[in-house]
Amino acid sequence: VVNYAPFTLLPSAVPRALFEQAYAVQQDFNLLVDAISQNKGFLEQTLASTIKVDDFTARLFRIYMQVLEEGLAQTVFLGINRSDYMFDCGLDGTAALRQIEINTIAASFGGLTSRTADVHGLVLKVLGKTKEASHLLPNNPAEGLALGIAKAWELYGSQRAMVMFLVEEVQRNIFDQRCVENELWNRNIRVIRRRFRDVFERGSLDASRRLYMDGQEVAVVYYREGYVPQNYNQQNWEARLLLERSRAVKCPDIATQLAGTKKVQQELSRPGTLEKLLPGRPEAIARIRATFAGLYSLDEGEEGDRIAATAIADPDRFVLKPQREGGGNNLYGEELRQVLEKIKDSPERTSYILMDKIKPQPALNYLLRAHSPLQVSECISELGIFGVYVRQGQELVLNQAAGHLLRTKAIEHADGGVAAGVAVLDTPFLV
Ligand code: ADP
Ligand code: MG
Repeated sequence: VVNYAPFTLLPSAVPRALFEQAYAVQQDFNLLVDAISQNKGFLEQTLASTIKVDDFTARLFRIYMQVLEEGLAQTVFLGINRSDYMFDCGLDGTAALRQIEINTIAASFGGLTSRTADVHGLVLKVLGKTKEASHLLPNNPAEGLALGIAKAWELYGSQRAMVMFLVEEVQRNIFDQRCVENELWNRNIRVIRRRFRDVFERGSLDASRRLYMDGQEVAVVYYREGYVPQNYNQQNWEARLLLERSRAVKCPDIATQLAGTKKVQQELSRPGTLEKLLPGRPEAIARIRATFAGLYSLDEGEEGDRIAATAIADPDRFVLKPQREGGGNNLYGEELRQVLEKIKDSPERTSYILMDKIKPQPALNYLLRAHSPLQVSECISELGIFGVYVRQGQELVLNQAAGHLLRTKAIEHADGGVAAGVAVLDTPFLV
């Protein structure tokens, strides 16, 4: 079944200053994620409590330790991430940029959103708003992401080698991926699409741990899968280990995937942590920290007891987040209170973090979705900035922002992105 991707009828207003702030901090976030991925001590310490109670994170962590023990064959590293924000409305009505999370694996919609500015430009023209249409910014994340993949492919240094998109068993977002793929073909880079199951059945390593798929060498593995427990059975875990052990550039490598966990995000907000991870970069640290919302550890101990009690007393101030990706997992309001009440004295508590709830100012828009009635809704938006970087050994050879994504949803949905069927694609109209 083919459906059109859901989108807003009209572009949404976004404060220009906050939009620019989000772009200005993206290279800093790239640096930070890359630094975390190389800091074994930090990852070990930060995830110690989580991996005791969260099986999925524990499994990823085991692969991470295993490849480190063997010694990394990979020498070129490619990060594609998306840092997501909402605009928190203060009591005096001014909005502040607040990071929701940073996605370090399978950050999607860079392809489809490369088309949305044209759609909204056309709608504005049909409405007689030609001047407004001309103000929409060009945006082409597909090109930016492909640039990173192409750079990594080039540094891998084998003309014959291919790029492999690691894709889902049931592919729900294929056209988004094809936009990036086509940019690579335009650069004469060969692309194949394979599932974990294919890797398990037909993937192999040679003596120097070069990765072969169906007899052909693979230079870059770009994961659009593998970020939730449901993506894995025993064979898929074995395939993941094979890929991680290989010399191929993984986007992301397993360390970078772990750097994107919610537990790491919470730990970053602790005073002094950024200073340890990015020594000698006070300006980058200030830009990063200015985007943080309040984040709280639920680890066992007095600090966790205190914040758990506060959240039970006032649940609407917070969001309770498990170590999951993909939308629809967080808990709010009464449900948050009930769950916290139940787990507050058990170790299970440490598989969650608490975060201050961001409260944006709603605006009216129409959400267009296949098979859904058309009606005007009160909406809020989430801005994502794509980041791309490439490191060879210790040298960062590429570090840039690669475009943006605006997703908008009706206010009655507390959680969930586009893939979860809640948010739709949008275009920022800067004000
Ligand atoms: P996931 O990895 O599942 O995407 P997120 O942290 O992005 O997890 O949360 C999913 C959605 O929940 C977000 O897209 C946003 O709409 C909502 N959300 C998350 N954190 C907050 C918050 N602190 N305040 C308000 N809404 C939030
Ligand atoms: Mg998210």
